[in-house]
Amino acid sequence: MVLYSYLLVFLIIFSSDVDKTEYSVSNAISLTHPIQSEVQILSGFGKRVHPVLQTERKHTGIDYRVEFGDPVFSAAAGEVLKISYDNSYGHYLEIAHDNGFVTRYAQLSEISDDMKVGISVDESQQVALAGNSGQTTGTILHFELLLDGQAIDPILFFEN
Ligand SMILES: [Zn+2]
Repeated sequence: MVLYSYLLVFLIIFSSDVDKTEYSVSNAISLTHPIQSEVQILSGFGKRVHPVLQTERKHTGIDYRVEFGDPVFSAAAGEVLKISYDNSYGHYLEIAHDNGFVTRYAQLSEISDDMKVGISVDESQQVALAGNSGQTTGTILHFELLLDGQAIDPILFFEN
């Protein structure tokens, strides 16, 4: 009977931990799509053959269909973390949010003049214009969600 009680307590603690983890992750951030037009995702998160490199590698974000120059919006309220350029992402912007989340917007043609590292942005505030800079076969918005530096599938976190 004592052993049974211990087992029961263990199971309750274990299962409540699991619930708490799932609860805190799925409720820690809610995102709105960072584009204005109808949402069409050309490429999802996960393994794929890279369209430029033709090798299989993990796609660390999702690609939205956009027109060149379409406005890009912050997916949640936060603070500008980084504005940069590299050969892969092209012009890109990162916004830091609560609970260790960061969103990244890449392949941009232009980052809004008022974006500076450290400034606060509202959810759905325009931050950039979409484009085709960096390593891409066309005009897309490559969007990433990172948790503690690791890319995770953003599709799980959209409220709309
Ligand atoms: Zn992409």
